[in-house]
Order: sequence, then structure tokens, then C-alpha cells
Amino acid sequence: MCPARGPAYKSAALSHARLHFHDLTREELRQLAVRWGFSPVHAARLWKYAYLDGVADWARMPELPVKFRAKAEHELSLAPLPVAVETHSTDGFTRKYLLSLPDHRRIETVLMRYTGRVTACISSQAGCAMGCVFCATGQMGFARHLTPGEIVAQAVHVDRVLRQEAGGERLRNLVLMGMGEPLHNYDAVMKAVDIVCDTAGLSLGARKITLSTVGVVPGIIRLADEARPVFLAVSLHGATQEERAALVPVAKKWPLDELMAACRYYSTKLDRRIFYEWTLIEGKNDTAENAHAVGRLLAGLPAQVNLIPLNPTAGYGGEPTGREAARRFQHILAGYGLPCTVRQRRGIDIAAGCGQLAAART
Ligand code: SAH
Ligand code: SF4
Repeated sequence: MCPARGPAYKSAALSHARLHFHDLTREELRQLAVRWGFSPVHAARLWKYAYLDGVADWARMPELPVKFRAKAEHELSLAPLPVAVETHSTDGFTRKYLLSLPDHRRIETVLMRYTGRVTACISSQAGCAMGCVFCATGQMGFARHLTPGEIVAQAVHVDRVLRQEAGGERLRNLVLMGMGEPLHNYDAVMKAVDIVCDTAGLSLGARKITLSTVGVVPGIIRLADEARPVFLAVSLHGATQEERAALVPVAKKWPLDELMAACRYYSTKLDRRIFYEWTLIEGKNDTAENAHAVGRLLAGLPAQVNLIPLNPTAGYGGEPTGREAARRFQHILAGYGLPCTVRQRRGIDIAAGCGQLAAART
């Protein structure tokens, strides 16, 4: 489960006849064009068509020379991930896309509108190996890592949906909080982040990207050592080793004290605050005593706590903490100087909330 130094994902180049365009960085595309015997200018133009103009159809790239276009079309796939099912929440702000992968597995991507901003919540794996008891993705088990292109394609999809709507908005915010554990698929995720941040393309600000981890300690250390500019969220859920391990099985592999040491290392090295996520489960981890334990654990650290009342999943019987108890929890944390928000419940009717993505119902 350790994020390997070499790419852990199986590249699309190996599994499919054609490379996928979204698997390539701009520099890799440039080198490819040169290897094919063409000017890098054409590669730059192709990149712009795909990421700036949102074009996924070779016939709509008139500025590419015919010979280059023919070669690129032969070598590269530009196919978007087909939408198998699109669902809209009655809240009017949330949409979920069930996307098909080339091997017919499926993943889910969520578009969330908040006042003044739109965020895409994207997946990093089909399924998840971490087995958190209250999470639908964990309950379905692990199928495979996504390739960088499959991660990028989700952002491209949401960007394309937005630009086709009135106002022609562009995607600006991304959270890696969909299906899967991003630090278990480190290389593919980081390559995808590099691609979506490319200033000649989608140009997402790295500070507009948040990566959420269950607590993969070597991955957190690597993020710090590589000074990755994305924001980090760490799913805590328990403030003692025993309580955390009951909800998050990988806490046995990466115990709480090691996780907190990695978080301190990250925050010190990058001088950056970490978001700590806490799924509030009635009677399990939502008492005043629990809140004081979180307060003691995080006091003095550059931290913000996000409380997420439990969303229902088929395989877990717990209940979400009510509004009053959530407020009390928040108030206690404030006493330790910890800023704390209660996550708005969105898209629950279409199972698009945190931990509800499973891609298994259709
Ligand atoms: N694997 C990563 C990111 C995906 S899960 C992680 O675990 O952090 C995104 C967030 O949803 C995590 O904080 C996770 O603990 C939370 N979550 C999972 N299942 C949930 C549920 N049923 N209700 C509320 N939050 C849940
Ligand atoms: Fe995987 Fe995150 Fe779900 Fe845990 S909460 S099973 S790490 S997706």
C-alpha cells in the first residue's frame, strides 16, 4: 500500500493500443511530436485545442496541418470518458456523473456549486483498498488505480460541462475526495495534478486543489519532501489509536502517533495548514469527550477541522450526529483555538456526498 517510487498505475500506453492524450504532460507531447518528425508548434496548438478550447474532435482542429493531425489521430486517443449516468440532486447544486473507463469499470465524479464557485470532486481509483467501515467506496473493495489520463479526464469533463452552460464558466477548484485513496496512487495523481495545473492548459491553481488522504504516512512525507503545492486534508475520525483503528483499518499500519508526526513534518516543512476531516457518527465519535481529545491532539498545530456528519451507505448502520451536537463539538474545538466548519450536506439524495461514491448501483 506504500506509494511506490515508480509508477504504480498501469499506463494506458500498455493496456490500450493508443496512448491517451490526457496521459501526457505538455512536454511529453512536445517530445512525441518531435519524434514523429513534426514541429513542436503543432504539439502546442493541439494542447491548446484540447485544454483551452475544450475540443475533443480531431475534425475541429483546422489549424493543425493535415499530416500532423493524421499522425496524432493514429497514435493518440482523445476520447472523453463516456457518461453512463448523470444525476442531479434536488438541492439544485450537485450533479453526479457515472463515467465508464475503457475496461468497462466505472467511477464517479461530482460537480458541486457553492456561492461564487464550482468544485469538481474527482476519483483517483476504481474502488479503494483502505476499507474504512463507513465508506461506500471502501465497502466495494479495490478494483484498480486510475491512470493520470483518467484522472485528468474527469476534470476536463466538468470543465466542458461548465463551459457549455450559460456564462461559459471554467473549472477552478478541484478536490481529490472522490473514490479511492489518492496517496495510494501517488505517481498517477501527481502527474494528473501537473497536467491540470499547466498554465497553457486548464491552468488550475495548485492552491485550488485539495487532496484528501486517509493517512498514508509515506505519501504525506513525500508530499512534504517534494513540496507539492496542493492543500492537504487528513481524515482523522478518531483521536486515540484505538478509536481511530476501529473506523479506519489502515490506522493499524500507520498508527496515530506516526500519522501526527508526518503531519507535523509536513506543516513545518511547507509552513502550511492541514485540514483534518472528522466524520461525525452519533454515539461513536461525537461526544464532548471526543471533541476535547481532538482539541488536545491538534492544539497548537496549523490546523482546521472539517466536520462531516455521516452520510448513509448500504454497508454501515451508524447515524449522523445532529445539528446541535455538531455545533457543540465545533464550540469545544474553538476553545482550543481550532477553526472548525461543519460540511454542508449536499447531494445526499443522489448518493453524491462524502463517502457515498460506489459506482456499483447501475
Ligand atoms: N480516501 C480519501 C479521500 C476520499 S474520502 C480519504 O479517505 O480521505 C473523502 C472524505 O469522505 C474522507 O474524509 C472520508 O473519511 C469521508 N467519508 C467517507 N465515508 C463517509 C460517510 N459515509 N459519511 C461522511 N463522510 C465520509
Ligand atoms: Fe478509501 Fe477514503 Fe473511503 Fe477510506 S474513506 S475507504 S480511504 S475512499
